[in-house]
Amino acid sequence: MFESLTTRLTGVFDRLKRRGALSESDVAEAMREIRIALLEADVALPVVKDFVAKVRERAVGQEVIKSITPGQMVVKIVHDELVAILGSESSELRLGSPPAVVLMAGLQGSGKTTTSAKLARRLRSRERRKVLLASLDTQRPAAQTQLEVLARQSEVASLPIIPGQGALDITRRALDTARREGYDVLILDTAGRLSIDDALMEELAAVRDLARPSETLLVADALTGQDAVNTARIFHERIGITGIVLTRMDGDARGGAALSMRHVTGQPIKLVGTGEKLDALEPFHPERIASRILD
Ligand code: GDP
Repeated sequence: MFESLTTRLTGVFDRLKRRGALSESDVAEAMREIRIALLEADVALPVVKDFVAKVRERAVGQEVIKSITPGQMVVKIVHDELVAILGSESSELRLGSPPAVVLMAGLQGSGKTTTSAKLARRLRSRERRKVLLASLDTQRPAAQTQLEVLARQSEVASLPIIPGQGALDITRRALDTARREGYDVLILDTAGRLSIDDALMEELAAVRDLARPSETLLVADALTGQDAVNTARIFHERIGITGIVLTRMDGDARGGAALSMRHVTGQPIKLVGTGEKLDALEPFHPERIASRILD
């Protein structure tokens, strides 16, 4: 494993402190350490550059140079800046008037179907909402059945499957059922592809126009690092996402992808997937990712 950023930074400053005074070039060495650590944590280069510039501005300030614990001081500045970029605002879902539609988008294998069921379960059990799940995935064999099974395990209703129906017809039927049967929230699980293609984006845009979602959530696998960042940028350009769900944060992802995705889309990370079980979905806490990058 990498030596932690905190250890490296305190190390740099402790070495320097023994010489008596800190200079601007000492700070530059610390910035180099931060830069390397962020790149190793999957943060995209332009984001790293912006970030280091901000930290440097604060670090060359007198408070650090004069501090008896400059290393810890810089660690705190880095932590605070990480939290600021990741967004300190609430990651609550904004659900409009019932039936509020949540559109789930993402590449195949990102965890979209599992996350749809986890979210449905969470809204049902924590907020007592009446939730309907519907799968628009007519591409992957058994995708609709998979959601049906997960819905049952989550004790949430799912739209009955009618074989041969296309994504738009299923959307119409789901909206109709949700309105008629008084659902609070309708979660639409869409088809994914192994990589982004025009057909996928066009179908998604058509579903979005029809369903007018209150939230369009991109589900992205944190372990895919830079690829997840590119995916986020493209999905945001093409369909306009309102938030991100980062899955597989139970793995050893360093979490830097979260920083980059937030930066390139301007949209918040709202939820984090932390396992395969249906209760493994948590609200996003910027401080936890900041600590993960620093530790
Ligand atoms: P989809 O193709 O995007 O719908 O992906 P799935 O929902 O079918 O998920 C693919 C695999 O990832 C399944 O085996 C899930 O159990 C697993 N998975 C989803 N989210 C998480 C997570 O947060 N952590 C872990 N460890 N596995 C996850």
